Amino acid sequence: MMNLKPFVEKLAGRPVAVFGLGLSGLAAVKALCGAGAEVLAWDDKAQSHAAAQKAGAEIVPLSDKNLKKCAFLVLAPGVPLHYPAPHAVVLAARAAGIEIIGDLELLHRMGHGRKTIGITGTNGKSTTTALLFHILNAAGSSVAMGGNIGKAVFDLKTPAKDGAFILEMSSYQIDLCAAYRPDIAVLLNITSDHIDRHGSFEKYVEAKERLFEGDGLAVIAVDDEPSQKIYDRLIAAGRRKTIPVSCRRTLAGGVYVEDGNLFDATGEGAVEAGSLRGLTALKGAHNHQNAAVAYAVCRLMGMGAEEIMTHMQSYPGLKHRQFPVRDINGVVYIDDSKATNAEATAKALAAYQNIYWIAGGRAKEGGLTGLEHLLEQVRHVFLIGEAMEDFSKWLNIYDIPHNRSATLDVAVKDAHSMAQGARGQPGGAGVVLLSPACASFDQFKSFEDRGETFTRLVMNLDEAGENHEGGA
Ligand code: ADP
Repeated sequence: MMNLKPFVEKLAGRPVAVFGLGLSGLAAVKALCGAGAEVLAWDDKAQSHAAAQKAGAEIVPLSDKNLKKCAFLVLAPGVPLHYPAPHAVVLAARAAGIEIIGDLELLHRMGHGRKTIGITGTNGKSTTTALLFHILNAAGSSVAMGGNIGKAVFDLKTPAKDGAFILEMSSYQIDLCAAYRPDIAVLLNITSDHIDRHGSFEKYVEAKERLFEGDGLAVIAVDDEPSQKIYDRLIAAGRRKTIPVSCRRTLAGGVYVEDGNLFDATGEGAVEAGSLRGLTALKGAHNHQNAAVAYAVCRLMGMGAEEIMTHMQSYPGLKHRQFPVRDINGVVYIDDSKATNAEATAKALAAYQNIYWIAGGRAKEGGLTGLEHLLEQVRHVFLIGEAMEDFSKWLNIYDIPHNRSATLDVAVKDAHSMAQGARGQPGGAGVVLLSPACASFDQFKSFEDRGETFTRLVMNLDEAGENHEGGA
């Protein structure tokens, strides 16, 4: 990590408060203490205290009284700032009259001098952030990726002077940025999920729009109305040079996707940059949006079209998000364990054909409703977990053949032998897709645990259709 000492010296002995000692809070504590700052830290969960104490923080409940002497409060992004009600520590900081900031704002205040790219949107943030990191890294740029993805920013290795931080930013993190705005601000889409913490859709849109204040560059995908409006206002304000992106229409001056082909109209006329159809780790229309946005950012970073498209080919994908685990005789085994609701699973079902689909777990409200029109992509379903009986009834309504496999090991084994046995069928080899449309907690610790289990089972399959780990 970079040298925080000059920043800490400017605090002139005032302590800093940190609330929320998860990954990012603890990393901030370590960085601040390491640079000689006095840190008061607290978390409602006592088990997180020891590590912060070991790093040098004083563990003490934060009240308006002790917050008064602090320079500011660093708040973890998961702690409610506004909605449904401000956390007690937020009220205490307000009463004490001190600023509340997040780790991204803190990073900015250190004056690190590196370029930053900030990526937000309702969906696709992690994919786009990881894809951008992959392309820029493969092109030899010195880049570090963090924020809402992977490591906390204070655990990152600082990029070289001409390098960049690539930061995934949720609305919660934007809320905690008083002054920090990225050099390249990026918006993927805005839909009406996630309004729980913002109280209303308008406030959610406002939070996203704040990222585009200030000068610099921007990329905005304009396929939904709120994003289009943010783009229009930004252009009217004339502050940031902005590339618009669309997967629905041609865009003079922008980047767009037509029939799976990427077009670059940022220069004179429109040039076909390449096809997105063959990218195995970026399947589906939603991923074309992510790819087109990443492409536009790379153009702003000075890369040429050909180089960007070359490195996009080698993007390996993000674990548990339509991640191709293995190809056995042309049948691809895909881990989409992160799809914990029907909406996310819809994206995966739309992206493939001849699907041997493993679904189930702890059902969300509505179950599989909304997936009816995608069932023609499915050859057979393998049901697991608590949702098995309900999902079976639902599939019966549409006459979709399925097994009640109950557990993931049985489902993988059955799907494997069926998919391998059907390779010669018209339509060709299919895919075995774990896209549960359910939470994992009935049978697994987390969606990551479920995805890792799937990966292990798939890696143990043999090419003839047997699973060495045995049955249920
Ligand atoms: P986030 O970090 O914003 O949660 P991810 O990249 O982790 O997004 O993707 C999570 C899920 O969101 C994916 O499995 C897919 O179902 C869906 N998704 C990804 N990109 C997009 C997009 N551009 N538009 C709509 N949905 C998307």
